[in-house]
Amino acid sequence: MQCYVFFGIQGSGKGTQAELLSRELDFQHVNMGDLLREQVSQQTELGRRVQDIIARGELVPDDLIFEIIDISLLPGCQGIVFDGFPRTVNQAEYLVRHFEVLQVFFLELDEAEAIERISSRRVCSECGANFNLISHKPLREGVCDICGGDLAIRKDDRPEAITKRLKEFYEQTLVLKEFFSELRLLSVIKASGSVTSIARDINAVVHQVKH
Ligand code: AMP
Repeated sequence: MQCYVFFGIQGSGKGTQAELLSRELDFQHVNMGDLLREQVSQQTELGRRVQDIIARGELVPDDLIFEIIDISLLPGCQGIVFDGFPRTVNQAEYLVRHFEVLQVFFLELDEAEAIERISSRRVCSECGANFNLISHKPLREGVCDICGGDLAIRKDDRPEAITKRLKEFYEQTLVLKEFFSELRLLSVIKASGSVTSIARDINAVVHQVKH
């Protein structure tokens, strides 16, 4: 199965860009954070095992991540856009063993801007839609545009958990730049511009990659 991969610091916009690319290519968007939060909100056995880990901002053990991938891939999908996976070298090795990786996008953003973006993020407690008080404001303060639900701060977007998540990113995930660069699969994309201009940069690379 062919796939594209997005990774980057929290708040770099990988969810937004992965969603756009998956729609354009008609690939399945696999957003690992959303899949995990879904398991938590449904209180499945796996969800109960990971909820405290996620709330603390730590990484979920690799074997549970592989289990989620197994149960989430849609039969008959044409390809996958992974977002938030892989986040460790062990996960990256699993990825290249099981999938044909077409290209990996590292969305580059400095830490101060990342923290500002994360702190202004709000999520609907009913339907899970994402908003941002700076770049994607809801029409009515505190209310979801889509379903009218209350907007809240994600538990792991609170300062203590953000610090932990950034630490995990530097210690476990950043090394994947080297990993994919050695495989000649890495594209570094500047993530501080507008959604449209970043999407344009990504598309330019995708058009050069044969799939
Ligand atoms: P995200 O929405 O991408 O920021 O992910 C939220 C949380 O889910 C992370 O802070 C981790 O606790 C967990 N998580 C998401 N993806 C992974 C992964 N590939 N490996 C381990 N934990 C993950």
